[in-house]
Amino acid sequence: MEYSFTKSQQLKNKPDESRLGFGRIFTDYMFTMEYKKGEGWHNAEIRPYAPFMLDPSASVLHYSQSVFEGLKAYRTADGGVNLFRARDNFKRLNTSCVRLSIPEIDADDALFALRELLRVEERWVPSAPDTTLYIRPTIIATDPFLGVHAAEQYLFFIILSPSGAYYPEGMAPVRIYVEDAFVRAVRGGVGFAKTGGNYAASIRAGDIAQENGFAQVLWLDGVEQRYVEEVGSMNMFFMVDGELWTPALNGSILPGITRDSVIRLANGFQIPVIEKKIDVNELFELGAQGRVREAFGTGTAAVISPVGWLQYRDRALTIADGKTGPIAQKLYDSLTGIQFGRQPDPYHWVETL
Ligand SMILES: *Cc1c(COP(=O)(O)O)cnc(C)c1O
Repeated sequence: MEYSFTKSQQLKNKPDESRLGFGRIFTDYMFTMEYKKGEGWHNAEIRPYAPFMLDPSASVLHYSQSVFEGLKAYRTADGGVNLFRARDNFKRLNTSCVRLSIPEIDADDALFALRELLRVEERWVPSAPDTTLYIRPTIIATDPFLGVHAAEQYLFFIILSPSGAYYPEGMAPVRIYVEDAFVRAVRGGVGFAKTGGNYAASIRAGDIAQENGFAQVLWLDGVEQRYVEEVGSMNMFFMVDGELWTPALNGSILPGITRDSVIRLANGFQIPVIEKKIDVNELFELGAQGRVREAFGTGTAAVISPVGWLQYRDRALTIADGKTGPIAQKLYDSLTGIQFGRQPDPYHWVETL
């Protein structure tokens, strides 16, 4: 793939690595590529990070025809840069594209574009402990047309944001509210796709939960409102009677790459992993009997997020005394160990820049 490079007139100062936060600081450059019906994907560019010109009628602004991904680049102890399962992110981007009637992008081209951008932006991969460079590939429909249809023009872009350690003071279990009114995704809908509309639909429930002292909501299925789906932008796992349970992928759950990695690591630790429908009533009954030893979410941002407390209607469940359980800790240490190159990578998940 050919691309053009436009040099920035003035490079930014790098921020203090102890106060990066998440998603507010962006690097000097971005990758962009356009699509037009009849021409396909074309006009690949690495150019200075800057606002886009968009027609106010651009279809993404009205009908949310868009998809995105989230992954990270990791600074290793020897000064190198690792990517973790990046090809899987671009494969999933294409799965999302198909559902949203967006033209796919060859995964090799997308990975090449990311690697070229990262070579230009290498100095932005932070090196303070557990900091990363967050990567956000996105595709939006740009047709200046208010009709509801698959657009004929799109913009693909990759932006980069240095982000701080998720747990500057060690892993901290969170309180989660089991949502029994709103649903996130429905049968036949877009729950398995990484698309902005899923988040738009989830914000109100999250706000109410936060007002009531919970970090996030745990979504139940959209049909019976009975089976556990996922939490915010994380998949869920429960340690029950020595087995690791996680909701089976059913079309309304996002197939997390961290979820898949955790399943494979747990198998390697000889922990039986069971993918199945998890009835929330059964889960609370098992919890009351002391059989739910751990609960945690998995996602690229937090890696592993232990859940210490669950609230479902008038029932409260405390898990692992509100502390981080040993399995959650072991999975977190293993996964971050592989990502930052501190541990061997038996699954060949990591590639260097
Ligand atoms: C991105 C995302 C996840 C986690 O996926 P990872 O590939 O592990 O980062 C889980 N649920 C939702 C809704 C998501 O958007």
